[in-house]
Amino acid sequence: MAGPLDLDDLVGRARDGQPRAVARLLSLVEDAHPRVAEIARALTPHTGRARVVGLTGPPGVGKSTSTSALLTALRAEGKRVGVLAIDPSSPFSGGALLGDRIRMTEHATDPGVFIRSMATRGHLGGMALAAPEAVRILDAAGHDHVIVETVGVGQAEVDVAAATDTTVVVLAPGAGDAVQMAKAGILEVADVFIVNKGDRDGAGETARDLRQMLHMGVARDWSPPVLTTTATSRQGVDELWSAVAAHREHLAAGGGLEAKRRQRLRREVESLAAERFRVRVAASFDDAPSLADDLAARRVDPYRAAAILGETATARD
Ligand code: GDP
Repeated sequence: MAGPLDLDDLVGRARDGQPRAVARLLSLVEDAHPRVAEIARALTPHTGRARVVGLTGPPGVGKSTSTSALLTALRAEGKRVGVLAIDPSSPFSGGALLGDRIRMTEHATDPGVFIRSMATRGHLGGMALAAPEAVRILDAAGHDHVIVETVGVGQAEVDVAAATDTTVVVLAPGAGDAVQMAKAGILEVADVFIVNKGDRDGAGETARDLRQMLHMGVARDWSPPVLTTTATSRQGVDELWSAVAAHREHLAAGGGLEAKRRQRLRREVESLAAERFRVRVAASFDDAPSLADDLAARRVDPYRAAAILGETATARD
């Protein structure tokens, strides 16, 4: 059982990079603890240093293996790395799915690596709200790099991708995942593509299809490279990291990194404010049972009811 919550102590120890304190803070965020706002206030001045990379793609394509290979490369440079393994669509801790597999690798006992799975447990706004704060915790704890691994190619992944500087989308040969991704809008948020399992048949074809699909899409000032990797033998992993670095340099050179981070914070604040307002509106509804009756009896239309509730919620203290 966790003891009483001494937030100052916890934040101090997390900033020293103590893994247990970092883990505890992440649990509080995961559970949407009422004191998360205090954690954010204490940590925010100490953030903004870490480089944040997202890795997303369907299950089984080799994200964990790629993350592991990246960890080896970054540790060789002496960098401290935090990994968040997130299943945005699952309310359960995705430990067995993601993080545990990385944890079981050679990095398990490395004090320069912190790995943690997260789920949306308790978070009404889902991982889109929890992820940015989780990243800030790892940032404030002194990690040079934060890798955010997400499973899937849907809207939830697009939302989590918004919390990173560079988004890497991982695919494996075949499977038609690229079409699904295009529909989900992932092509637009991806900065680097990798077709992993390059040792398998069809990797070249999948890479070609992907390039063609990108070619047809909206032109951006950054053309996402499509790389082929074989994560199990670390082939192409250095090139992957070079592509991530190149994207970052591209962003930094054009002032885009700062702009992206500003935009990210703006979106986060909008989501947090919207969530607060949603809770107030729901409470106002609870306090106005006659409104529900009027709606049911068709005496009031939903638009009018929403306007009434909006006003009541705004007036609440
Ligand atoms: P994730 O679910 O996307 O994280 O995928 P994993 O990293 O767990 O990999 C799923 C399976 O694919 C594992 O059995 C890996 O060993 C295997 N795998 C990963 N990368 C490669 C690769 O480049 N080539 C081949 N043949 N298998 C791979």
